Amino acid sequence: MSRQGMTTQLVHLDRKNNNIEQGAVHSPTTNSVLYEYEDAQGIIDVFQGKQAGHVYSRSSSPSVSALQEMINELEGGEGALCFATGMGAISSTFLALFRQGEHIIVSRYLFGNTRSFMGTLESFGIQISYVDVTKLTEVIDAYQPNTRAVFCETIANPVTQVADIQSIGRYCKERGILFIVDNTMTPFVIFNAKAMNASLVVTSLTKYLSGHGNVLGGAVIDTGNYDWQTFPNIQPQYQNGDASQWGLTQIKKKGLRDLGATLAPQSAHAISIGMETLALRTQKACDNALKLATFLASHEKIERVFYPGLSNHPQHYIAREHFHDGYGAILSFTLAKALDVVALLNALELVICATHLGDNRTLALPVAATIYAENTAKERAQMGIDDQMIRLSVGIEDIDDLVSDFSRALNKFNQPG
Ligand SMILES: *Cc1c(COP(=O)(O)O)cnc(C)c1O
Repeated sequence: MSRQGMTTQLVHLDRKNNNIEQGAVHSPTTNSVLYEYEDAQGIIDVFQGKQAGHVYSRSSSPSVSALQEMINELEGGEGALCFATGMGAISSTFLALFRQGEHIIVSRYLFGNTRSFMGTLESFGIQISYVDVTKLTEVIDAYQPNTRAVFCETIANPVTQVADIQSIGRYCKERGILFIVDNTMTPFVIFNAKAMNASLVVTSLTKYLSGHGNVLGGAVIDTGNYDWQTFPNIQPQYQNGDASQWGLTQIKKKGLRDLGATLAPQSAHAISIGMETLALRTQKACDNALKLATFLASHEKIERVFYPGLSNHPQHYIAREHFHDGYGAILSFTLAKALDVVALLNALELVICATHLGDNRTLALPVAATIYAENTAKERAQMGIDDQMIRLSVGIEDIDDLVSDFSRALNKFNQPG
């Protein structure tokens, strides 16, 4: 069956997948917390899993289910669950699946809050090895008999290390290990996680999928690559029927339902509006990022640029194979030593100094003094975080305006006073 293009799917899936009534082309926002059944046997059957349906919106609601179905189809998965935030999706998934005494291999280059959460898991008695996921050998060396999963991000921020997902995916498949990939930096329009043997995809819907910076959300998608019958932690009551659903069922019950990081129906609506233009926006942001990276790399006041699309990036060869239609829209650069990072940020007129990623607007952040302020100078050095480093999340503005904003701001250093 020939697959439609991404934008075609993004703007038509809603009315095709979901039972939208009265001619509406977009799923309605249903706010009810509770659901009644004409025949009381109905609610009993739903509680017992004999029939699909909604009973209480912490676990499921029509608006959120509609979004889940769209996201699942776009990822080519077996099912998806949405959460209130990306962190809600990550924490619920890990807490639902892993046990004390087990071992997980995790990327050394992680989103800061995810890294912090890994520390919480360690305090609960889950062992974690932090490895350089740009090298398969480090993953192989960290393997232990009690290893249950490998977890990494596609492109890490701020230094833009690209994980060797294809090699790690193949290894996890051979070993029968769960492979969890956070694809927030490279949404499905430029990266096919299922084809790379990811088992579960976790993602922040707050970032590129929404794009507009007005809503929080997260999701986990089961790609169908993993055989849950081989996973030792699925509780007996969830080992019913189709084994492809066992993992998500446990994440839904033990994660979403019990921990309660539920996506609000209004948020599902706001996310789905953003998603309609995801492919167009991602394309534009990736094009802008490559052009801006090229401009900054040639500028005398910039010491170094980190962007996977540049041929001198250490993992450019991996990025070229993993991603299509772009290299993401996150880039970092280090300003020349003698120059003041704060002065540069203040001189930018168009670019916003803010901590967020995947927004339609271009954002800049001095990372050492903000998101890494809790770390020591030594820790920052180990992570490759220079005091002169600025992270950019490149937006969808017209590229000439972005280049002239940076050009003008950098030229200010030439002027006395
Ligand atoms: C932002 C982010 C998250 C967390 O998402 P929230 O929606 O902010 O909770 C997780 N992983 C990555 C890579 C992120 O950039």
